[in-house]
Amino acid sequence: MKVNPTYNTKESLLELYNKPLLELVFEAATIHRQFHNPREVQMSSLLSIKTGGCPEDCGYCPQAARYHTDVEAHKLMTVESVIEQAQNAKANGSSRLCMGAAWREVRDNKDFDNVIEMVQAVNNMDMEVCCTLGMMNEDQAKRLKNAGLFAYNHNLDSSKEFYGDVISTREYDDRLNTIENARKAGITVCSGGIIGMGEAVEDRVGLLMSYMEMDTPPESIPINALVAIEGTPLEDQKPIEQWEMIRMVATTRIAFPESVVRLSAGRTKMNMEGQALCFMAGASSIFAGDKLLTTPNPEFNEDKEMFDILGLIPKQAFADGEKPVTIPDEKIIERKRQEAERAAELAEASSKAKEAGFEPRKVTVS
Ligand code: SF4
Repeated sequence: MKVNPTYNTKESLLELYNKPLLELVFEAATIHRQFHNPREVQMSSLLSIKTGGCPEDCGYCPQAARYHTDVEAHKLMTVESVIEQAQNAKANGSSRLCMGAAWREVRDNKDFDNVIEMVQAVNNMDMEVCCTLGMMNEDQAKRLKNAGLFAYNHNLDSSKEFYGDVISTREYDDRLNTIENARKAGITVCSGGIIGMGEAVEDRVGLLMSYMEMDTPPESIPINALVAIEGTPLEDQKPIEQWEMIRMVATTRIAFPESVVRLSAGRTKMNMEGQALCFMAGASSIFAGDKLLTTPNPEFNEDKEMFDILGLIPKQAFADGEKPVTIPDEKIIERKRQEAERAAELAEASSKAKEAGFEPRKVTVS
């Protein structure tokens, strides 16, 4: 994954961002055509596998427990219901499933084992699997990689300087560490930002500079426009103009020619013409489905119509990288072995008790 050496300083990136809009779009479209098929746009689905109740304080997020929003907290979905949702998403044209859990960090518990099984199952359906689960260590990243995870999403959100204005419960460096852990495990990185949170243009460029400074920039860079949700600290932020979204997409495309730039949250505030300019400027992925975790998104049918009008075609899974191989997870195998052993012991004890004339108590193995 290479960066564009012409724009590897903050000054040059700022100059690029501020170019006359159509010049900027033309330059981005030209670069996009050198590295990507301009008709292909990936349809991805974002599924909230564990919603709300998050201890973090991200100022834009309705899932933070401390804000009074309409989001209802739900525990982790079952593996079976995730498979069902993945099948629906695939049938509707999505080639990538991103599963999001509102956790501060991954914990080594049964919930994580279940996520591992979800990743294994969806990878076996020939869909790219991406997860966004909060902070994770190297060992957890390795387990996800072995399960068949294609990408790990962990957004930097904005520049290092502005980050503290929006989030106080963890540091920018914590985010960078998690990205590094995904990288070390051989998982591709999906990391991007949100514009419209009250940041300066310098912060938008500062976000891109953070990726410029990485040894390997993200393979996937989602660009979101803030969807201001009632009850969050950013509820009164005015929506940004769609021109700003186009500018950010184009600048990102030029700076990172090989990465996939994803037009993500905020599409409900854009018209089709605005989105078309984003595709022209190098966006080659959208999130499909009427929900992005918990925020509204255009319906499948509207997107299908847009693809027809603009002559876009859905990008197939693994067009940008090989399908990961799923390797059986040792920890899950061992846990299941212990559970089976315990259940066998209980069954034996129960039958001995019966033989001895006792009516044993009912015991449930969890
Ligand atoms: S963005 Fe993620 S980490 Fe931040 S509050 Fe929302 S769910 Fe929690």
